[in-house]
Amino acid sequence: MYKIAIVPGDGIGKEVMKAALHVLEALNIDLEYEFGEAGDECKEKTGEALPQKTIDIVKKADACLFGAAGETAADVIVRLRQEMELFANLRPVKSYPGTKALFNDLDFMIVRENTEGMYVGEEELSEDGNTAIAKRIITRSASERICNYAFQYAKDNNKKKVTGVHKANVLKKTDGLFKRVFYEIAEKYNAEGIEAEDFYVDATAMYLLTRPQSFEVIVTTNLFGDILSDEGAGLVGGLGMIPSANIGENGGLFEPVHGSAPDIAGEGIANPTAMLLSVVMMLNYLGEKESAKLLDKAILEVLAEAKTVTSDLGGNSNTMEMADAIKKRING
Ligand code: ATP
Ligand code: MG
Repeated sequence: MYKIAIVPGDGIGKEVMKAALHVLEALNIDLEYEFGEAGDECKEKTGEALPQKTIDIVKKADACLFGAAGETAADVIVRLRQEMELFANLRPVKSYPGTKALFNDLDFMIVRENTEGMYVGEEELSEDGNTAIAKRIITRSASERICNYAFQYAKDNNKKKVTGVHKANVLKKTDGLFKRVFYEIAEKYNAEGIEAEDFYVDATAMYLLTRPQSFEVIVTTNLFGDILSDEGAGLVGGLGMIPSANIGENGGLFEPVHGSAPDIAGEGIANPTAMLLSVVMMLNYLGEKESAKLLDKAILEVLAEAKTVTSDLGGNSNTMEMADAIKKRING
C-alpha cells in the first residue's frame, strides 16, 4: 500500500487530477490518497498559497501528484521542492503517435540538477545600477548526487549511455568540477556496460535538433537543464503532453509541465495526457513497473487511434471522455 498526496491546485490542475484519479481506479494497486490544498484559490480561502498542513501531507506520503498552481506557482512548487529536497528534475522526451511531435522516434530522459547552479538566487546590482552579478554555485556533493542518479536511472531503465552536458571550456571552475565528477561516477558504471560521453551545452542544443535519436539520458546543471528540457518539450510537441518528476532522497513529486491554463479552465477540455504520463512516472518511481507499462500503453493506444482525444490533439472529446477511453483500454 502506498500513501499518495494529491494536490490538484488551480484551474485545469483540478480537472486533469480528476481524470488521473479516474484512470487509476483501473489499475490493480493499493493507493491511499490524502488531499492537500495549494495555489491561488487556497490563498484566497486561507491566506496561504501553501499551508503547513499540505506540506505535512506531502512529506508523509510516499509520493505526491500535483496538478497546477496559478499565479502562486513559484511560491508553491519552489517551496515544495525545497521542503522535500527534490534534487532531481526529470523530463522525458518521448514521441507519441497522433501528436505534433517533430520526430516520431524519440525516447530519452533529461535529468536536471534542481538545487544549485544559477538558481541559488544570489544576485547583486551595483549602486550605480550598471553592473549586475549572479553567483553560480556548483558543489561536488550535489554533482555526485545528480550524476549518480542519472547513471542509476540508465541502469534501471536499460539505457546504455549517459551524456553529461556543461560549458567547461568557459565556466572552467564550476563546470570543470561538474565534468570531473561526471566522469568519476561514469567510471563506476562503466563496468556495468553504461557508456559516458560529454558535450558542451551549445553543441547539445544543436544535436537535439539534428540527431536527437542519439540521446538516451542527459544529465546537466540547473539552468542548462531548464533550457534543454524546454527544447526537448518542443521536439515532442504540445504542453498538454509533457510530464515531469521531482525526485528527492525521501520522496517524489509528479506534475504536468503545463500550468493552470486559465484560458480554458472550467471548460473540461484540457488534455489529460501530461498528468497521466506523470502518473506513469510516479508508478515507475514506486516500483510498480507493470502498472506503469499498462497505463503508458493505454495512453499510447488512445493517442494513436486519435478518436477519443481532446481538441488540442485535433479531436472533439473532453477531458473525462479521453480519460475514460484510456481507463477502458486498461481494463482490456
Ligand atoms: P499558468 O500561469 O498557470 O502557467 P498559463 O496561462 O501560463 O498559466 P499554461 O497552463 O502554462 O497557461 O498553458 C499555456 C497554453 O497552453 C494555454 O493556452 C493553455 O490553454 C494551453 N494548455 C496548457 N495545458 C494544456 C492542456 N493540458 N490541454 C490543452 N491545452 C493546454
Ligand atoms: Mg505557464
